[in-house]
Amino acid sequence: MLDTFHRLRPALRRLLQWWITLGVATGDSDDLRLKKAVLTLVSSSIAGLAVFWGVLYIAIGYPLPGAIPLGYSLLSLASTLYFFRTKHFPFFCFSQQLLVLLLPFLLMWSLGGFANGSVVMIWAIFAPFAALFFNHLKAATRWMAAFLALLALSAAIDPMLAARARPMPQYLNTLYFLMNLGGSLFLIGLMLYYFVRDREIAYGRLLESEAQIRELMLTDPLTGVANRRHLDDRLAMELARQTRYGQPLSVILTDIDHFKQINDTYGHAAGDVVITAFARTLEASIRSTDFLARYGGEEFVLLLPNTEAGEAAALAERMREAVRHIRVPGSGLGITASFGVTLARRGESMSEVLSRADEAMYLSKAGGRDRVTTLLD
Ligand code: GH3
Ligand code: MG
Ligand code: MG
Repeated sequence: MLDTFHRLRPALRRLLQWWITLGVATGDSDDLRLKKAVLTLVSSSIAGLAVFWGVLYIAIGYPLPGAIPLGYSLLSLASTLYFFRTKHFPFFCFSQQLLVLLLPFLLMWSLGGFANGSVVMIWAIFAPFAALFFNHLKAATRWMAAFLALLALSAAIDPMLAARARPMPQYLNTLYFLMNLGGSLFLIGLMLYYFVRDREIAYGRLLESEAQIRELMLTDPLTGVANRRHLDDRLAMELARQTRYGQPLSVILTDIDHFKQINDTYGHAAGDVVITAFARTLEASIRSTDFLARYGGEEFVLLLPNTEAGEAAALAERMREAVRHIRVPGSGLGITASFGVTLARRGESMSEVLSRADEAMYLSKAGGRDRVTTLLD
């Protein structure tokens, strides 16, 4: 038995998949697709359960309470098939909610009012619940008002119904109550599951694309290191931290020597490769708490928190050595770069620090290039 089930499972899954996507139209959004699939699944389940219910009532000698769920299933099927033909989702939603709101009331009335039929009332809460998922809050409120109005009407006619009631055996009432509760909670749970999952997926996507956009906004496309915008943010933060905690913040500015010649002789593409290799070389020399950004064409800035000017100059010296190993593509030619090192002063602005680093770098250029200059004031 279980074996047969396992063998049939893929086929059943395909059948279910086929059924719940019959109402989906090309061009539907993911959200609408999901709503259509869930409503098709839920309404078909209720229609199936109602057939079972109807047959059960008839079998134990209650023909009218049996006819109502059977009639419900027929109308529900008609509404579903109409939806598959027309793909008209609002009508499908409305008709299903109306049917599922009326079914429990009609059933309760036919069973002889609250005393006999209140066990089916749990289903009536389904319509407002579904409206919350498939329509919107306002629609859900209207469905809830309709539910309360029918409840009030039921209370008004209850004495009349009770007079004609044919009491049901207690064990049947208990059994029905449990089955109704189980069935309705299962289906409400199913809807909740799909919707919460859908929201989680959508939220995850949103966070992901936000992170991607942030990344794009702050990254230099050629070298993959931080761009100038990112440098501005980071430098402002480091300066604020330095002002607050008083730890030294060193800044290095570096620029490739005679880069125009490389571009002119070997082409812009070769120049790009050199800039990228330059970035990789600088990156390889720094700590994870340090920060590297492309400041301009072939100019880079390094922020070194908690680092004294002497240590920064030594680092710049090591970088200068490493840079000499970079080769221009299409030639055996090496490159050199000039470095300017400075230390941020407490309370100093971004532009003050950067222009001093720039000044230091230009002193290196003026002094013959391929060197490190430290400028403290
Ligand atoms: P110096 O030693 O004085 O720095 O001389 P230099 O030739 O390097 O002068 P400068 O720094 O002013 O040259 C910058 C050149 O970089 C000019 C520009 O054409 C080139 N450049 C700027 N951005 C890019 C880029 O993204 N790719 C390439 N290939 N070249 C760039
Ligand atoms: Mg240059
Ligand atoms: Mg330059």
